[in-house]
Amino acid sequence: MENLHHIVVVGGGAGGLELVTRLGNKLGRKGKARVTLVDAGLTHVWKPLLHEVASGSLDANANEINYRAHARKHHYEFQLGRMNGLDRDAKQLVISAFHDQDGAEVVPERRIRYDTLVIAVGSTANDFGTPGAQDHCLFLDSLSQARRFHNLMLNAFLRKNHEALQGQNHALNISIIGAGATGVELAAELRLASRELPVYGMNHLKPSDVSITVIEAADRILPALPARLSAAANRELEHQHINVLTGQPVSEVHSASIVMKDGTELPSEMTIWAAGIKAPAFLADLDGLEANRGNQLVVKQTLQATRDDSVFALGDCAACPQPDTDRPVPPRAQAAHQQADTLFKTLRNRITGGDAVPFVYNDHGSLINFSHYTTVGNLMGNLSGRSMYIEGKVARLFYVSLYRMHQVALHGPVRAGIIWLMDKISRAMQPRLKLH
Ligand SMILES: Cc1cc2nc3c(=O)[nH]c(=O)nc-3n(C[C@H](O)[C@H](O)[C@H](O)COP(=O)(O)OP(=O)(O)OC[C@H]3O[C@@H](n4cnc5c(N)ncnc54)[C@H](O)[C@@H]3O)c2cc1C
Repeated sequence: MENLHHIVVVGGGAGGLELVTRLGNKLGRKGKARVTLVDAGLTHVWKPLLHEVASGSLDANANEINYRAHARKHHYEFQLGRMNGLDRDAKQLVISAFHDQDGAEVVPERRIRYDTLVIAVGSTANDFGTPGAQDHCLFLDSLSQARRFHNLMLNAFLRKNHEALQGQNHALNISIIGAGATGVELAAELRLASRELPVYGMNHLKPSDVSITVIEAADRILPALPARLSAAANRELEHQHINVLTGQPVSEVHSASIVMKDGTELPSEMTIWAAGIKAPAFLADLDGLEANRGNQLVVKQTLQATRDDSVFALGDCAACPQPDTDRPVPPRAQAAHQQADTLFKTLRNRITGGDAVPFVYNDHGSLINFSHYTTVGNLMGNLSGRSMYIEGKVARLFYVSLYRMHQVALHGPVRAGIIWLMDKISRAMQPRLKLH
């Protein structure tokens, strides 16, 4: 084991966990390489599900994967810990000391030696230093943040229901800053929650008492997607009685309001920041590796760091060039999925002395899911390169298939099929919303 080529993947998210699963199954199992996953958490939940966890329309427990159990099944090792540094000369990564909930040290700072290192640590929302954002906004970057949001939302509904019972002013204002896919989908999920909760006993609060506003600095929602898609999404938000403010940069966030650049103040008891992304700060200065202003590691088309061929990066934390455009690969689950596939081939070649495979992003289109209401999107034609607008059940099918593909990559087709069936049964048995 000691003499085997050691591949260390840091970050078991949308891309990293798929990569380590294939490496374990193909190289680890046959004793051709030692494969280790390092993650700051003990479990994996696919990040695009977090807004559903936040609203309660999805039970995270049923969709959580325990890294230790998964590692055992797929022939890789798992190390719990948060990477915070790198020593490229010694080929070691540095993992922070691990503390328990009371602050007692469980494991001291450690170093892990690698032959090949893959950094796949994802991204967090970028508040661009907006005053008050860190103190007063909620974020949806991790499972714990999504769960916290869910608890705060249930408490806010409970409080407002009680105030309605007392005949007091009980309007609840929820604002989402950023009308990208995350912000728009979250708004629809919250509308569903505001309609469902009265069914479960909070019957003094009406859905119309819950005001949901999406705020966007650009002049249209979903600014990164085609205009037709953003117009369709806009119509759907209006249909769901969700307010849309475009061309409105936020300049300050307070505990119960938001101040716009033009000085307008909007009441907001719950504010969610869903605008922009940045990679974790420790990447900005990682033993001389090149990083951009958003802390992303700059990589070549082979996903190798520009200054070190033994270090690779994929997913949201990588700035990867694309041929024929100066825009890097977008930070999306489908990009992380495709990069994991390419990198698997490269790392397999690396063991046998073969070449690195260049990554070419294949945009299959974008889908925006409005909770149980509808889905809209565009699919890219592989041959024509033109996009086709779709909506409704067909669009929903494509939307769900992205997560199902992730499950197939992690569990294989048979187990993924069983999980799909169990999901169906559990959805039929459980209330539509998670109520605790
Ligand atoms: C609410 C929401 C909805 C989204 N919806 C969509 C969608 O519909 N379609 C789409 O294509 N994309 C969507 N995205 C974007 C998508 O989730 C990301 O592009 C994708 O998850 C990136 O994958 P990744 O592997 O780079 O990182 P992630 O999936 O974020 O995984 C990063 C992993 O690294 C770990 N980690 C972080 N820092 C460290 C550290 N220092 N040391 C060790 N481990 C660390 C984390 O614990 C995590 O497990 C959505 C994002 C959000 C937040």
